[in-house]
Amino acid sequence: MILLNPGPVNVSERVRQALHRPDICHREREFADLLHRIQDKLLKAFVPGAEQDYTAAVITGSGTSAVEAALMSSLPQGKRSLVINNGVYGERMSQMTLTHRMGIPDLKLEWGKRPDPEVVRLALRQHQEVHLVGMVHHETTLGLINPAKEIADVVDSQNRVFMLDAVSSLAGDPLDIAGSHIYLVAGTSGKCIQGFPGVSFVLIRRGFLQRMRSYPRKSWYLHLPHYLDEEGRATVPFTPAVQVYYAFDEALSELLEEGVAKRIERYKRAAKLIRDRMKTLGLKPVVPAEFQSNTLTAYYLPEGLSYELLHDRLKERGYVIYAGQGQLESKIFRVANMGALSAQDLEGFLAAFQEVLEQAAVSR
Ligand SMILES: *Cc1c(COP(=O)(O)O)cnc(C)c1O
Repeated sequence: MILLNPGPVNVSERVRQALHRPDICHREREFADLLHRIQDKLLKAFVPGAEQDYTAAVITGSGTSAVEAALMSSLPQGKRSLVINNGVYGERMSQMTLTHRMGIPDLKLEWGKRPDPEVVRLALRQHQEVHLVGMVHHETTLGLINPAKEIADVVDSQNRVFMLDAVSSLAGDPLDIAGSHIYLVAGTSGKCIQGFPGVSFVLIRRGFLQRMRSYPRKSWYLHLPHYLDEEGRATVPFTPAVQVYYAFDEALSELLEEGVAKRIERYKRAAKLIRDRMKTLGLKPVVPAEFQSNTLTAYYLPEGLSYELLHDRLKERGYVIYAGQGQLESKIFRVANMGALSAQDLEGFLAAFQEVLEQAAVSR
């Protein structure tokens, strides 16, 4: 099956084979070595040249666990966070801060609208109790890229801490973490890094990690300092998904061999191939071209074609697309191009898509 949903993704045979390495105990040296390799590769891939300034906490859990860990570990006593919410994943972060009673009302925008840095500046001036601002980099709801650097600059200018959910953008869209005043970045193995789902991580600025150690512990499983020793080396407080870590390590090697910039270019080309063809078929994207990510495109469903029909006909042909969420559920569909997909896979999908569209038009 070819997966055109935004994770889990198709992985290479090389990554799949890594699952078959020997059974090991996570309290033995072999696992520590594996974990430290993963940590080093993450830093090499995402903060090249600034590896000394960051560390990576690695958690067994889906992307949401990394996002929640970053939010819950970053507040001093009495301080609060502010979430910028312009999609399903921003809404999720907002709900997390509400659940744990550590947020102020979110900065809520219409889906597809990008936040204005000046509005964030104003909110921070008004709310001295806010210590951390959280935002999603690639809002997977519609395939929208939020202005990470601009918002990070404003947050930093107000002496606050910026946290980014880059779960669906790391290795898919450009992001200058070290050059952008970003303290915490949540990511996962099973999207653009092309590993299996089940391991996630938070990149943390080392200076901030020191401050974080004095903050009250708000969660047992998700307290980030617990995942790092005094030197900032990764530790495993709980039983990790060992085999998934093997595959993650292999996926990171694959990423570094391909090169992060080259991976991003490959995704960009794949998205262009899809977008050019969809345009000739008359489909309308939801997000304007200049704000689209490299890895997902949301389209309005053609008149008279239901998502269920489109999805089922494509699935019969071996391709899985993704539904809209929330208020757009019945109006749009999404096509992601993350994962180990060849040009042939994409051509095959586009041919199948055209066929399904033409059949639906005839039967109408
Ligand atoms: C996929 C995704 C997540 C995490 O989802 P999980 O199902 O927990 O892996 C978080 N944020 C964004 C922007 C995502 O696309």
